[in-house]
Amino acid sequence: MIEEMSKISIEKISESKISTVDFSNIVFGKQFSDHMFVADYKDGKWSNLKIVPFAPIEISPACAALHYGQSIFEGMKAYKGVNNETLLFRPYDNARRLNISAKRMCMPEIPEEIFMEGLTQLLKLDSEWVPKNEGSSLYIRPFMFASEQLLGVRPSEEYKFMIFTAPVNSYYSQAVNVKIETHYSRATEGGVGFAKAAGNYAAALYPAKLGQDAGYQQLIWTDSVNHEYIEESGTMNVMFHIGDKLITPNLDFKTTLAGITRDSVLTLAKEMGIIIEERRVSVTEIIDAAKKGLLKDVFGTGTAATIAQVASITFKDERFELPPISERELSNKISHALDDIKRGRVEDKHNWNYKI
Ligand SMILES: *Cc1c(COP(=O)(O)O)cnc(C)c1O
Repeated sequence: MIEEMSKISIEKISESKISTVDFSNIVFGKQFSDHMFVADYKDGKWSNLKIVPFAPIEISPACAALHYGQSIFEGMKAYKGVNNETLLFRPYDNARRLNISAKRMCMPEIPEEIFMEGLTQLLKLDSEWVPKNEGSSLYIRPFMFASEQLLGVRPSEEYKFMIFTAPVNSYYSQAVNVKIETHYSRATEGGVGFAKAAGNYAAALYPAKLGQDAGYQQLIWTDSVNHEYIEESGTMNVMFHIGDKLITPNLDFKTTLAGITRDSVLTLAKEMGIIIEERRVSVTEIIDAAKKGLLKDVFGTGTAATIAQVASITFKDERFELPPISERELSNKISHALDDIKRGRVEDKHNWNYKI
């Protein structure tokens, strides 16, 4: 398919920037790899596929994405495997999810072939940028935005799809203090909560900042109708370990993002013999379990940290401390198991890894 649409042209950087990066002290999200992938959508098709040096791009002040927010993204990571090969974790799922987001935001789908071929060639070219040190990885940011000069309100007819990458340090997942949010909402039924849309992040910044100012690193979002049911934790999915069950909000209401880490964690937990419950999770149920000392663990799941354990939960000024991290057997075990798979140290039974 990609042959038909014209091949990817490659313009290499004249001199790599890699020697300017101290890989033991990477500043998160500030240092970018040498190249980026770009594709343009115009006249109903994707074309002009290219890899060029990472650099600012020129857009019109009337660029539709800046005004009306047609902008979506993905987040994924590449790791160095035991034989120094570059491994990607479940990239086809990211491609699929980007297109789910695209559809909801009235944007064109990107063919899986272009997504995968752009990604593969970009990572081949910048393979030296995948950090080798334990814990570090290469963060990958595919995204799409409306690029037409347009002031009228209608779906743009032009888009850009791009991928760039950035080396990131090991994420020291210090346990976070969270607050159950009972006023603001991240998503509503019928809204765009299931899409990885830029606007979802913008809408969450202010309540998140209020939470941070009050000492909570993250908010637990609840349903927008009565704030009775739990949806997500910050920009991660959230799971509760109670008794022999791992309980997590289901995705049926389309207010929760279908995390790839979420799915991976549930798959591994099930294999470890844990009972999985994907269903509505009420705030009352979680607070009751906390009061009775039955809440063994609460953690967020997402690409950035894989698993981010929660230290305490606050609900209406009442704070509940959770057991010490060292006692969180299940999440510690799953976290290590996922890391081992992503870095190619154990058999990849689920075919999750994609080798560049
Ligand atoms: C990206 C994201 C997640 C996590 O998804 P992963 O595929 O596991 O990285 C969860 N919630 C929200 C709101 C997100 O944007």
